[in-house]
Amino acid sequence: MSLNEEEIERYSRQLALPEWSGEAQERLKSASAIVIGLGALGSPAATYLVAAGVGRVGVVDPDPVELSNLSRQPLHFTPDIEQGKAESAAAKLSFINPNVQVDPYPARVEEDNAEAIVMGADVVVDCTDSFETRYVVNDACCAQRVPLVEGGVLGLSGQVMSIRPGESACYRCAFPTAPPEGSVPACRDAGVLGPVAGVVGSIQALEALKLLTGFAEPLTDRILQIDEGGIARTLVRTSRLEGCPACARVPAAPQSP
Ligand SMILES: [Zn+2]
Repeated sequence: MSLNEEEIERYSRQLALPEWSGEAQERLKSASAIVIGLGALGSPAATYLVAAGVGRVGVVDPDPVELSNLSRQPLHFTPDIEQGKAESAAAKLSFINPNVQVDPYPARVEEDNAEAIVMGADVVVDCTDSFETRYVVNDACCAQRVPLVEGGVLGLSGQVMSIRPGESACYRCAFPTAPPEGSVPACRDAGVLGPVAGVVGSIQALEALKLLTGFAEPLTDRILQIDEGGIARTLVRTSRLEGCPACARVPAAPQSP
């Protein structure tokens, strides 16, 4: 899949990187990504994937835009209030890069539809804010052998990990059980600052680009923890859990970039 003149100009600054290449750009153009959740993490994640030139990007969110979203979800504008987030995001993303096929899915990811949503994608970026959904997305990606980038943010902290099912620790290997209900405050109660979510969502997009092109080492078997209050970043090692119900029996993908 070759690049035309417009694409070479559009992507010229990333093509100038010594780590990047025309081959990486072409690989991106023939790739597809799914971004689940179009809020504080999904806004920057989807923006950077579309801007960078991923060929197809599916954007998944069942909810409407609310006034309280606008302080940290820059894909949605004030006139979008009460519109669906999937359509609202898809409209902006198509303006950013009309070369990308952006498919809006106004759906809630649940056990009975998760595998169908992630099937055939080259990477999934999970930008939801619920532990329950994270396990559902993780299990579906493991079953379908789709690489996954997990992320979360709360207050001034966040974390990101990348997963190659069958090769590296999955979310369930790293966190075998969800924290007891009520032990982790919701974003609604604990608060979140937009730029902190912007940092985490941007790192998720970067990880997805690594997984799609192989241009740099992704955060597999490691969890990046960031604390923007204390300006600290910590890498916590993790490894595959023997007998993990999600990934223990998943064979490694036939080929990776
Ligand atoms: Zn696992």
